[in-house]
Amino acid sequence: MPVKEAIRKSLIGEALVKEGILTEAQLTRALRIQALLEQPKMLGEVLVDLGFATKKAVSDAIIKHGGGMRLGDLLVEQGLISPESLDTALGIQRDSGGKRLGDILINLGAINERTLLQNLASQARIPYIEPEFGMIEPRLISGVSPDFLERNEFVPFSRGEDGRIVVVVPDLENEARVHALHDLYRAECQMALGPRDSILATIQDFRRFRQGRQGKPVDSVEAATDSVAQLVDHILARAIEERASDIHIEPMSEKIRVRYRIDGVLVYKTDLPKDLGPRLVSRIKIMAECNIAERQQHQGGRILHTVDGHETDLRLSVYVTVYGECIVIRVLNKKMGLVSLDGLGMTPGMLERYRNDVLDVPTGVVLITGPTGSGKTTTLYSSLDYCNKIDIKIITVEDPVEYLIEGLVQCTVHEKAGRTFDSSLREIVRQDPDIIVLGEIRDQLTARTAIQAALTGHKVYSTFHTEDTIGGLLRLVDMDIETFLISSTVISIVAQRLLRRVCDHCVAPSAATPRDASRLGLDFNQLREYELKRGRGCNHCNHTGYYGRVAAYELLILNEDVKDAILRKKTSHEVRKISMDTTGLISMREDGIAKVLRGLTTFDEVLKSTPRTPGMRPLRQILSMTK
Ligand SMILES: [Zn+2]
Repeated sequence: MPVKEAIRKSLIGEALVKEGILTEAQLTRALRIQALLEQPKMLGEVLVDLGFATKKAVSDAIIKHGGGMRLGDLLVEQGLISPESLDTALGIQRDSGGKRLGDILINLGAINERTLLQNLASQARIPYIEPEFGMIEPRLISGVSPDFLERNEFVPFSRGEDGRIVVVVPDLENEARVHALHDLYRAECQMALGPRDSILATIQDFRRFRQGRQGKPVDSVEAATDSVAQLVDHILARAIEERASDIHIEPMSEKIRVRYRIDGVLVYKTDLPKDLGPRLVSRIKIMAECNIAERQQHQGGRILHTVDGHETDLRLSVYVTVYGECIVIRVLNKKMGLVSLDGLGMTPGMLERYRNDVLDVPTGVVLITGPTGSGKTTTLYSSLDYCNKIDIKIITVEDPVEYLIEGLVQCTVHEKAGRTFDSSLREIVRQDPDIIVLGEIRDQLTARTAIQAALTGHKVYSTFHTEDTIGGLLRLVDMDIETFLISSTVISIVAQRLLRRVCDHCVAPSAATPRDASRLGLDFNQLREYELKRGRGCNHCNHTGYYGRVAAYELLILNEDVKDAILRKKTSHEVRKISMDTTGLISMREDGIAKVLRGLTTFDEVLKSTPRTPGMRPLRQILSMTK
């Protein structure tokens, strides 16, 4: 096979060589590997993967040298476009006589407008702002006509401490706009780049507001006289609407960056002008009843925030950094509520076994395991909701109670008040329950309580922090619980991970690559027969291609063979093999692969989130076992 060596020069690579971080030979080798990759990857990532440079060294080099780079090179350097796309675009640009490179790349479909603008902004060292009507300082816009804004394609955003007005524009080369801005504000404006569709939509909302029609933004502008308070409300409301679990407001050297964590992944929302920082932080601290005079210590707080009559619990963390106070707000959204058993994402066959052989069994211990954020609490509550009947008493001890279910007796531990986990455990069995829920198996005492309760005829549910089902079983052995007690009480262990779901709004056919096959240890010739799905990225999914999540499950239901293996203290590898051979155990990775083949998620998600399992079955068998 001829090697395609489309190796380009790398300014960042050369800078690293010049600074003595990289040798010439290492750079050449990394560039050669980069050119051979199926999916484009940033040179920096290749260098980190190979162990030639640290992430920090690479990002320092981009910050130091990236500003002076040409746009095309910067995009190639980051792996955002391929060198071939750049060559094509440059060719078109030569023939077209001065069309903008960015526009050509967008037309070619090589890059989307937002990614391009974010890069143009960082190259020009100005903020990237996605404006929305609710974020804008009302005073700046009140006297301006929407037609004027639309004709010149800009929106004013905020006024800085030096009196300069920050204006969001879709490009930097419009002479007429510069004159119009000067006529309007009689002062120099600071530019920020933003997507044209967001700018025009903001102007439309402003027009509607003017015309006195109804719409959400009207309320927010009227209610908030202080523009920073209004901006904070907008950031919070938008985060809740977009199902964010965390809001990050981070001061950087020249701007403030706002990101949301959605479906477990950080999504870049917008930048804000740097000098809004102190006012923004003060406002949020006031909401959380923190000390606003204190700027040298880390702080925490809590905000009960009401949007549209719905209360959301927000947890604030303020971390003092070199560029100012960095804010992270965790959104505890109780509105998400209960998911029904059918909605969990178990395959019909697995769900049937889970109902019949786990939930409907009257006694024994059921453990749900996985790391933090793997969705095990959701599975636990769905299971309890299923078991919640008029003739069944369910009692819980949790830290804290996360969902309230009518009919359950739920208790949150309160160490300071003396209502500890241990004291609750002692009392719980005297409440004559049928089902006992222990929030988490955290030590030997909890494990023993669970097993004792099961021995006396109760059903016990709990969660556990272990990698997979077999790990959960063996952790109990490690906790010095006698193996005959484990084998006679534990009936099932569920392990799970959350995988991002392909966005319905921008879904497109896709195919597996040889790289997917080799990373998964599957046969490419078999894999290529399946049509897969991938999201192209759209407004609905924040241009990530994913919306919502689906769980990959591993459901172990103990049979005599597995119990025997525990009694004989077999190794985890042996217990897994026996479970796979005799109980039909499907690993989370196999379940994830089946979900990719059914178009729900992608191999990237499976590789990122599920542990590698030895002895994986062939594709057809996985599919027939996960019906
Ligand atoms: Zn989408």
